[in-house]
Amino acid sequence: MRYSKKLGQCFLKDRNIVKKTVDAAQINSDDKVLEIGLGKGILTRELAERSKKVYVIEIDRRLEPFAREITSKYDNVKIIWGDALKVDFNSLDFNKVVANLPYQISSPITFKLLRHDFDLAVLMYQYEFAKRMVAKKGTEDYGRLSVAIQYYADVEFVCKVPPQAFFPRPKVYSAVVKITKKKPENMLPLEDPQFFEDLLRALFQHKNKTVKRALLDSVHEIGLEERELRELLEDLDFNLKERVFKLGVEDIVKLSNLLYRRIKNNPTSYQSDNIKNNNKKIRNKK
Ligand code: SAM
Repeated sequence: MRYSKKLGQCFLKDRNIVKKTVDAAQINSDDKVLEIGLGKGILTRELAERSKKVYVIEIDRRLEPFAREITSKYDNVKIIWGDALKVDFNSLDFNKVVANLPYQISSPITFKLLRHDFDLAVLMYQYEFAKRMVAKKGTEDYGRLSVAIQYYADVEFVCKVPPQAFFPRPKVYSAVVKITKKKPENMLPLEDPQFFEDLLRALFQHKNKTVKRALLDSVHEIGLEERELRELLEDLDFNLKERVFKLGVEDIVKLSNLLYRRIKNNPTSYQSDNIKNNNKKIRNKK
């Protein structure tokens, strides 16, 4: 078989890494697990041995012989042929996720998962991406990805994985990350998740600048004009002189909620058409 680079087909061959990954997910016989990407099924077999049910989403039909081999041995494995980005996760009943992810879809699949309900995910990423996921405020790797993920979940680094653990060998190191989804009652309340995302984009385009400078420099990202933003920032109960990369998740949630409330409650008289259009979605929710 020709391995597809486009589909991220670097299959795990190191059994120690397989074991470490499945161990980190603390799989037991009550668990129902979602796996993304069957490959030749090295992870699937281990999951099938230890759990109640395994759903595997795989896009490449050429892997059907491996799927048949597995489903003839394990009756708790169900293969779903399709694109994991398009499959409706609500149609699958799982509480854990374990996968050696195709790197091309690392970011969208992670955010798709985070919007879904699950207890724990243990996932393999490219090393650099994993470092950004787990980075703490004030560090070099800390950025939009760190905040966006850490808002929804606690993330831990499990282990670094060398290229020789796979066939074919990737060019870069990988890493296993454990993601524990926060319970809804432990999540910081957000006035508007979309505004939070827009604000993150605006802030982290200038992560070494002060909050005020960063916002002014990417004012378009939050659908405002400079004049309006300056007014909104006046007397805001927030340290606007802090550098963006030093803000924790809580700080950014606070800033998002403060600004969102001000935008929502502001009289529209001084707004240009541009602002009105851009912020229609916010004010319509009033
Ligand atoms: N789990 C196997 C392993 O560890 O050896 C395979 C991992 S390999 C990195 C990624 C797998 O995901 C490949 O089998 C690939 O065909 C599949 N894949 C790629 N894009 C996909 C997508 N959008 N939806 C579902 N599967 C996908």
